[in-house]
Amino acid sequence: MILSKKLENAINKQINAELWSAYLYLSMSTYFESINLGGFASWMRVQAQEEVEHAMKFYNHIVERRGRVILSAIAVTQTTWKSPLHAFDEAFKHEQKVTAMIENLANIATAEKDYAATSMLKWFHDEQVEEELQTDTMVQKLKMVEKSTGALFMLDREAGKRKKE
Ligand code: MG
Repeated sequence: MILSKKLENAINKQINAELWSAYLYLSMSTYFESINLGGFASWMRVQAQEEVEHAMKFYNHIVERRGRVILSAIAVTQTTWKSPLHAFDEAFKHEQKVTAMIENLANIATAEKDYAATSMLKWFHDEQVEEELQTDTMVQKLKMVEKSTGALFMLDREAGKRKKE
């Protein structure tokens, strides 16, 4: 059940992308801290932790398949956004990109007839449905509260209740 080099390289790139996602969300978290929206900051912190877990799922898959994990440099991220809506909109767009990356990995696994990788990726397809839904829901809610600071504070409090699953 040894991984092909092609799939190993693609999964290594995905590990970097997941860790970069964690970096992005942590950067968004600190942006929210800077504008005193602690609830959104906490939501983003939870999100960043989940991304590290995603990276580790891929990492473990390579190790279990007797491949070699290669950790490469994590690129810098943006540090500020125009508004809470802008940040969550970028988070949603980023998740759509991640979904496309997971689909690309699945296409490689299918072409290589790698059933174990295909099975592992199934979890990620389901997870991406959740990720897109969660970020888009926040985008839609933020659009509704755009002109009301009171409603924004309520949404911030609600976002702060998110716990790590
Ligand atoms: Mg992820």
